[in-house]
Amino acid sequence: MPTIELSHVSKVYGTSTLAVDDVSLTIADREFVVLIGPSGCGKSTLLRMLAGLEDVTAGDVVVDGRRVNDVHPKNRDVSMVFQNYALYPHMSVAQNIAFGLRLRRVPRAAVREKVEQVAATLGLTRYLDRPPAELSGGQRQRVALARAMVQESRIFLMDEPLSNLDAKLRSTMRSEILDLHRQLGVTTVYVTHDQVEAMTMADRVVLMRDGVVRQQGAPRDLYRH
Ligand code: ADP
Ligand code: ADP
Repeated sequence: MPTIELSHVSKVYGTSTLAVDDVSLTIADREFVVLIGPSGCGKSTLLRMLAGLEDVTAGDVVVDGRRVNDVHPKNRDVSMVFQNYALYPHMSVAQNIAFGLRLRRVPRAAVREKVEQVAATLGLTRYLDRPPAELSGGQRQRVALARAMVQESRIFLMDEPLSNLDAKLRSTMRSEILDLHRQLGVTTVYVTHDQVEAMTMADRVVLMRDGVVRQQGAPRDLYRH
């Protein structure tokens, strides 16, 4: 059974901005899908509808047989990673990573153990007690990844997670994200406008323009020349 199924999904903002125009797309379990296209073509809107953060104007977004908007936010099996990290500045790195688990009332000892585990995986152990402001961009993005990972969701949604990083770090983080994707056995939908990310990371590239899917396929088929 597919993990994610979009059928005839559209989104209109206000009265006339057609951001997503009748998109149908099936995403398989454990697939790494890259949504790529120029700024304003509807990538983020589509991702936010997958997350249930944005209502659909028409059509259905179905995850594991259930419409996303029918599932309580707490029970959605989705973690999101943003371009600007979206960390809480007044909390330590550990508190940021632990936040979702505390909300779900996971027992304190279990939280500590999970936080330590995830931090070790991402090389964050020595930053756990620091505020995010004292970390570099790459470290902050690792914290955002750790916060997503610790939830043990089966679906990762990433919105241009590397675009604030320099080229060298982007390349390192591309492999780290791919390794995590494989290790965790998750389904990932990754938004970018960077062709290198699409070519090197995707099982399947979905090319968007003006709210529609223009083309899709394996990187080797789309970027043959
Ligand atoms: P992308 O992620 O590809 O840059 P977006 O999904 O952010 O594209 O935007 C698609 C279109 O919808 C654009 O025309 C954008 O201006 C518009 N849009 C996005 N978010 C909103 C919003 N909250 N309110 C009104 N219009 C929006
Ligand atoms: P509390 O919320 O009980 O005041 P803290 O603010 O110290 O606790 O931390 C919030 C969460 O982050 C706790 O669940 C704790 O387990 C975890 N945490 C804090 N510091 C660390 C650390 N150094 N290593 C692992 N987990 C930590």
